[in-house]
Amino acid sequence: MLYTSTRNNNIKVTAAQAIAQGISEEGGLFVPCELPEFSLNKIGEMVSLSYIDRAKVVLREFLTDFSEEELDYCVCGAYAKDKFSSEKIAPVVNVNKNENILELWHGPTCAFKDMALQLLPYLMTVSAKKTADGKTIVILVATSGDTGKAALEGFKDVDNTKILVFYPVDGVSPMQKLQMTTQEGENVAVCAINGNFDDAQSSVKAIFTNDDIKAQLAKKNMMFSSANSINWGRLVPQIVYYFSAYADLIEQGRINLGDEINVVVPTGNFGNILAGYYAKMMGLPIKKLVCASNSNNILTDFLKTGDYDKNREFYTTTSPSMDILISSNLERLLYHMSGEDDTLVTSLMKSLSDGGKYTVSPELISNIQTMFEAGFCDENSVNDTIKNHFDSYKYLCDTHTSVALKVYENYVAETGDDIPTVIDSTASPYKFSKSVLGAVIGKSVSDLDEFETVDELNRVTGAEVPAPLKALKNKSVRFSDVCDKENMSEMVFKLLSL
Ligand SMILES: *Cc1c(COP(=O)(O)O)cnc(C)c1O
Repeated sequence: MLYTSTRNNNIKVTAAQAIAQGISEEGGLFVPCELPEFSLNKIGEMVSLSYIDRAKVVLREFLTDFSEEELDYCVCGAYAKDKFSSEKIAPVVNVNKNENILELWHGPTCAFKDMALQLLPYLMTVSAKKTADGKTIVILVATSGDTGKAALEGFKDVDNTKILVFYPVDGVSPMQKLQMTTQEGENVAVCAINGNFDDAQSSVKAIFTNDDIKAQLAKKNMMFSSANSINWGRLVPQIVYYFSAYADLIEQGRINLGDEINVVVPTGNFGNILAGYYAKMMGLPIKKLVCASNSNNILTDFLKTGDYDKNREFYTTTSPSMDILISSNLERLLYHMSGEDDTLVTSLMKSLSDGGKYTVSPELISNIQTMFEAGFCDENSVNDTIKNHFDSYKYLCDTHTSVALKVYENYVAETGDDIPTVIDSTASPYKFSKSVLGAVIGKSVSDLDEFETVDELNRVTGAEVPAPLKALKNKSVRFSDVCDKENMSEMVFKLLSL
């Protein structure tokens, strides 16, 4: 299987090249030239497999330049039993009737990013051996909270890698911040920036493609790569859990092989839902992909009208991982849905960076609408939904999952389409304890510190506190740098001692 760029169809690279490099040299994103097709038979055969074996069935088709031994090494290392608190890795929990929650947060950092970022360091080091032997890979991360920690945890003390993480100084939860600033490992660094996630992401992209900086790194035998979902190695592991969830629904007797399901995804950078789109295009019987947003509802507007316009107010919400106005992976969807039109994608992305907006043709948006639905919900609904789900079903969800649950409720109310549905749950409620506890008890809890809040949430709900979050209490802060977004490249030099 070869990969090309969303902005230049002449580019053809292997999976290893795409993963080691992260982003194409002209700024486009790597995409598979064609998708493998899975028959219903092949999907049915996954029912009896473990998560690791399901992952191999899917990844084998995309990583055709990896040997079977390499694939085995990567997948078994990533999804080892001691790293995940659920033997199923990504369990599906039926909450009510056709509402099934896919819990993607049982990994070491308690957010769904672990599903990909436990695997990515393995894919990256194997890829680097194939394409850039001897080079040190410098992973540069812009994070809205969860990616940073998951990437740090995945890459810590991995040979021949260094990892630098930038997060918006006021844009992450206290627990997320603590997870990052206490990170252990010899090859890691963390820095806050004065700005929001989009500022961090744009600056990181600019640093990646800056020839001057790249040349300085090359002199030291280093190269940049990305652990953000612009990297194909971040997306491909996420395709697996859609197949796995479908297999689990069959196993639980909730659907028969071939039945259609809907999928609802709390969306930020459009990576998670795009993986669902790939699964659908590969033959998984998904009827609709429902894109759920918080008050930063730029994707809802785009999917309903075809106009993408980031010239709008930015809200800091209780679901910070979705506080995003530039959803990078939408570029990949536009590429596929426009019939691989690299010229169109290049010009849309240019208008986005020049004027902050673009409009797609009526044909293109109506094509997209045959597969995608969209909705958003405000902060009050997030709180109400957390409370309702806890009161009615004793199911405690985090703020991001709550957005998805509410948008799903609205979708069913508007369309009557209540076929079996998978709702992605993207974080443990304990990563956002203050918001979640406030929602459950119906009043704010400002007088408690972070760990008192965790204990209180546990006392009120009985939901188990994940061990990695409990352990943070006794760790000391290692990283307290803050820089302006204009100075991020200097910070990179400083952190790399260049
Ligand atoms: C990253 C993240 C999201 C958004 O996922 P995308 O792939 O960026 O759309 C949603 N919820 C949580 C908790 C996250 O960490």
